[in-house]
Amino acid sequence: MPRIVSVLLPMPLPEAFDYAEPEGMDLALGDIVAAPLGPRMLRGVVTGLRDGAGGNRPLKPVAERLDEPPLPPRTLEFVEWAARYAVDAPGQPLAMALRGLRASRPKPERRVRATGAVPGRMTPARSRVLEAAQGLMAPADLARAAAVSSGVVKGLLDEGALEVVMVEPASPFTPPDLSRPRPALNPSQAAAAEALKSMVDDDRFGVALLDGVTGSGKTEVYLEAAARALSRDPDAQVLVLLPEIALTQAVIDRFERRFGAAPAEWHSGVAPPRRRVTWEAVASGEARIVVGARSALFLPYKALKLIIVDEEHDSSYKQEDGFIYQARDLAVARAKIEGATVVLASATPSLESLWNAEAGRYRWLRLSDRHGAAELPEVELVDLREHPPQAGEWLSPRLTAAMAETLARGDQSLLFLNRRGYAPLVLCRACGERLKAPDTDSWLVEHRYSGRLVCHLTGFSMPKPDRCPHCGAKESFVSIGPGVERVEEEARRKFPEARLAVFSSDTVPDAGSARALIEAMEAGEIDILVATQAAAKGHNFPNLTLVGVVDADLGLRGGDLRAAERTYQLLAQVSGRAGRHERPGKALLQTWMPDHPVMQALQAGDRDGFVAIEMAEREAAGLPPFGRLAAVIASGPDPTALERFVTDLAAAAPNAAGVDVFGPADPPFSLVRGLRRKRFLIRADRTVDLQAYLGAWKARVRVPSSVRMTIDVDPYSFL
Ligand code: ADP
Repeated sequence: MPRIVSVLLPMPLPEAFDYAEPEGMDLALGDIVAAPLGPRMLRGVVTGLRDGAGGNRPLKPVAERLDEPPLPPRTLEFVEWAARYAVDAPGQPLAMALRGLRASRPKPERRVRATGAVPGRMTPARSRVLEAAQGLMAPADLARAAAVSSGVVKGLLDEGALEVVMVEPASPFTPPDLSRPRPALNPSQAAAAEALKSMVDDDRFGVALLDGVTGSGKTEVYLEAAARALSRDPDAQVLVLLPEIALTQAVIDRFERRFGAAPAEWHSGVAPPRRRVTWEAVASGEARIVVGARSALFLPYKALKLIIVDEEHDSSYKQEDGFIYQARDLAVARAKIEGATVVLASATPSLESLWNAEAGRYRWLRLSDRHGAAELPEVELVDLREHPPQAGEWLSPRLTAAMAETLARGDQSLLFLNRRGYAPLVLCRACGERLKAPDTDSWLVEHRYSGRLVCHLTGFSMPKPDRCPHCGAKESFVSIGPGVERVEEEARRKFPEARLAVFSSDTVPDAGSARALIEAMEAGEIDILVATQAAAKGHNFPNLTLVGVVDADLGLRGGDLRAAERTYQLLAQVSGRAGRHERPGKALLQTWMPDHPVMQALQAGDRDGFVAIEMAEREAAGLPPFGRLAAVIASGPDPTALERFVTDLAAAAPNAAGVDVFGPADPPFSLVRGLRRKRFLIRADRTVDLQAYLGAWKARVRVPSSVRMTIDVDPYSFL
């Protein structure tokens, strides 16, 4: 009996397509196959098999089964779950799950070895080569070992005294050594580690919130949980998710020290052939520890037993384009499917996680003190109304004096400003024109290092013009407001003898340069580090005793749902960089709003008080975590077609109890890359099945080809 094969393709299609199973192919669920779609041949996954011949129209046959490890059933289940959650096509998360297969495998490598044959003519150089030829060697290594030119090796190959052997590159994944010593844990670390180990021993789904102040030693605690998971089951795999590539190296080093082997790494900075090898090693179970960015969640784990989400509150876990998802939430879902333990770690947990911990759904493990003699830094608010900086400056006299003292002590300072470039706005003094990107509604940010004006939304950039494009005036531009480059300029002027560096995604574009700058900071080669949030998290700098926050109010201005929460988290994290070791640290927060609850809570170190106020406000408004939100964004080049579509969409919104639909509205950025945009915001009670609601709504409209409709469940951006 012939069979029909359902193949899910990594494309935004609503469902899997049916193909005929060629005779003798004998496919199984999860197999990775090549299947035709129109004129193209695509890689897809078998998600269904049933008897039948496919009705009156003959089905196209599957082209071949590819020589790849099959996608494990639980990975497939996760892909389908993620698509349902995001109200998106299952092919979208599948594309993420198959991403590792896009690259080709590293090529076999050429090695040579002695055959035992004696060359016709023996020279001293040749005999040195034959003596040095121990086992399989790369030709260049052999020539180097024998101190001869490559021509000598080639001559011996030609004469048959050496032969070429092609070898597969060695696996880069060494098993973890579970017998290595570990530091003695302090009593609160030990208690938290015991709790996590007992969860791992239960061998079923469970979530822990590891809630510990900065410097409390959360990493040591979750390393213990990892050690337990790895030792109680020889197949067990552990995944550590991090919000940023800049943080991966520090965590990889900690794992390497603990287990004597480097974990597998997974993020956009990993070269494609290496990704391919990693994907396969995760599928075969050979890679037992994976440290990576959010996309590592989609790898085909053979036996995933523990997921650690470090800095779980970080909004970088939300992916905003392509397949839209929140990796922390999907980590919990994946763990449920895998029957694994999840550890959410943070010094400033998200309100969502705190809410789950308060309700007893997550096990709440608290570490309230720094490890050892280190103390939390003292936080002082600098009231800019009373202590304003001089005109054209951004560092108040109070902060400048503290920097001078710190420098005199030989300690390091960190100046934090979460804004890249020199100035966020360039204005024409003659006509008032604000320079904007040509096809986007956002101001251009001046970057002086590169001499360009950059749109931070789309990445568009252009050289700074020499006259105003609006009125033609020459030399009429003024730079408004500070970015990190401008703060560095001021610090350099005030402290000409100090060694300065800027840490932002412009100066530190990749993991290698991040590492170099972090090492320079650790080695005391930098006195003042001016940084965006790229340096705000995770690092321990022993001599850093002063943190100055240039504009503590910056994040509060946008006023979205999480503005206060995010500002609290970010500033608590940044302040927490100070005083990591024996010496006490201090954080100075420059603010125009010292009475704001966020500033008051930061000064008093009263996170719980802040959370209580914020929770009460969210509860009163029915906002997350007490209610649910989704955004529907429509965009397109033609304003009339877009307007018509959103009008139809608004009319098609189903009526449902406990659901409010707001919109369509013009978002703050209503033009991006030449596309007009409109937004809807949907608020629902927690009892509502929001995905079902959105799915029903989507099914009622036909999206014209000139319009794109995107659904963002649990939006973090409202722009
Ligand atoms: P967190 O992630 O909670 O901010 P870390 O795990 O990075 O904290 O620990 C902070 C510092 O304290 C690190 O330098 C770490 O090596 C050190 N540390 C933590 N726990 C211990 C321990 N039990 N013994 C020795 N050093 C520790």
